[in-house]
Amino acid sequence: MVGNSDAEFMEKEAMPRLNESLALKYETTRELLKKAGDLGLLGIEIPEAYGGLGLDKVSGCLVSEKSAREGSFAVSYMGHTGIGSLPIVYFGTEAQKKKYLPKFASGEWVSSYSLSEASSASDAMNAKAKAVLSPDGKSWILNGEKMWLTNAGFADVYITFAKVDGEHFSCFIIDKGSPGVSLGAEEKKTGIKGSSTRPLILSDAVIPKENLLGEIGKGHKIAFNILNVGRFKLGAGVTGGAKLAIGACVAYGKSRQAFGHPITDFGLVKHKLGEMAIQAYASESIVYRTAGMIDRNLAGAAAGDPADALKRIEEYDVECSMVKVFCSEVLDYVVDETVQLHGGAGYVEDYPAERYWRDARVNRIFEGTNEINRMLVPGRLIRRAMKGELPVFQKAMALMEELTSGPASASDDDGFLAAEVRMTSGAKKVALMCLGVAVQKFGQELTDHQEILGHFADVAMETYALESAVLRAQKHALAKGEDQARLQEAAVRCFAQDAMDRIEVSARRLLAAVDEGDMLRTYLAALKRFTKRDVVNTVALRRQVADAALEAGGYPLG
Ligand SMILES: Cc1cc2nc3c(=O)[nH]c(=O)nc-3n(C[C@H](O)[C@H](O)[C@H](O)COP(=O)(O)OP(=O)(O)OC[C@H]3O[C@@H](n4cnc5c(N)ncnc54)[C@H](O)[C@@H]3O)c2cc1C
Repeated sequence: MVGNSDAEFMEKEAMPRLNESLALKYETTRELLKKAGDLGLLGIEIPEAYGGLGLDKVSGCLVSEKSAREGSFAVSYMGHTGIGSLPIVYFGTEAQKKKYLPKFASGEWVSSYSLSEASSASDAMNAKAKAVLSPDGKSWILNGEKMWLTNAGFADVYITFAKVDGEHFSCFIIDKGSPGVSLGAEEKKTGIKGSSTRPLILSDAVIPKENLLGEIGKGHKIAFNILNVGRFKLGAGVTGGAKLAIGACVAYGKSRQAFGHPITDFGLVKHKLGEMAIQAYASESIVYRTAGMIDRNLAGAAAGDPADALKRIEEYDVECSMVKVFCSEVLDYVVDETVQLHGGAGYVEDYPAERYWRDARVNRIFEGTNEINRMLVPGRLIRRAMKGELPVFQKAMALMEELTSGPASASDDDGFLAAEVRMTSGAKKVALMCLGVAVQKFGQELTDHQEILGHFADVAMETYALESAVLRAQKHALAKGEDQARLQEAAVRCFAQDAMDRIEVSARRLLAAVDEGDMLRTYLAALKRFTKRDVVNTVALRRQVADAALEAGGYPLG
């Protein structure tokens, strides 16, 4: 329901004012945020007690998806409702929540998040900004320069990280207009030109002592936990962007004639349309599966205990990183092909294709670059396995036994997507083998082998996407009628073939970097066994999905 309100809001309120927004008129974005607040769209994740709706993460994702209708507004919206508001939702004192959250939910105040600095963003803990207690003990005095604050130009609040006494990484709530606080110039960005991005300058800035957020020295808990939420919601936003671009491609493609035909008659154009829709389907599948798992885990959280809630979200940090990387890369594929499908018209401002393309690019950079998130996937899996929270090593050992004892007998189940279920099971074995082999070879030194970790992250991500797409189709497609079931089946079968190809390539590169000789030959034989599959005609499957997109006038799945 909130997704529908948001879609209507974007269509009726935000889109007609696109040119004003893109001219970076702060008052337009403020006004739109206020209207979104009046509709309840700013308080999705703010508890009811503080003026919000206190809805679940799936609802939050639906709203993020719809807000992607306009990239700049989406970034302003997510900057305010996500990284700008959630630190106080999860870490604020009662007084802080009462003071800020109702105004954040209504849109009366807009928030921003200030973690990055010029010399430290990926390695945010290396921050140079410093906070010391004033001689009378009543205030914090902050010095330093933060960078890249989304919403800075019109924000009332800056959630800011600095080191107490230059040592203890901590978080502060800085109100606009506090003494010693000023802003640098707007960044001249490639895309999302209607969003404000400015530095925050702290020059003996004075803020009240009670504006410390959370505990001294525990700022990393706020920074990293809030980013987990930001990452899977970014996944929802970029999936919305991908679906939007597919709609633009269908509309343009049908009307554009070449060689006496609409260009959508051509096989290579159908390939693009089919592949875009299939990848968007995989994106949607991992976003909503992750949000659903987090919601189920949160349902068991102690009432009114934000720390427990955060711990339960943190249990899905690996999935949050995978969603962020996978979906943002799908979006970049989709918008790049959107420009291509528009030909010259894709490269000029008269059509939205070039804006989609420019707006999309930043998603691989912020909320942790995709490289940093790739490193987090194996890093956090190994950490959890070491703590005994995940039975990764036990499963890897069992797999090693299977390697030496020969193949288990293959299932001959031929039900709906049974072959893809077998591929998923094989893909999981590949992932386990890769991780087991790499940990066995390098132990603690594995962190020095980023290329190997990166290949593993790609195997894990494709496996997660494949399993999510298969499970979703099995669970929901049949209930949506025969046509939709056949269409989702085609999409999943096509995705499975290609995902297995990608998994095979990444795994082979990883294994060849870890071992050689007989051991490598053994691993490669196992890889061949785990990725064994019948070859299917993906050209026909993609065409089937493309034709459905043409008939539906846009994204056809789901
Ligand atoms: C439009 C926009 C809005 C933003 N909004 C905000 C905001 O609201 N709040 C905020 O705090 N920040 C914000 N940021 C900052 C953003 O989070 C950082 O730009 C991002 O984290 C990357 O940091 P960096 O720019 O310093 O790049 P660097 O950290 O210098 O990275 C440069 C390259 O090196 C790679 N790299 C770095 N370290 C490693 C490593 N250990 N292993 C492998 N590769 C590595 C990176 O992946 C990247 O490819 C925003 C940025 C932009 C562009």
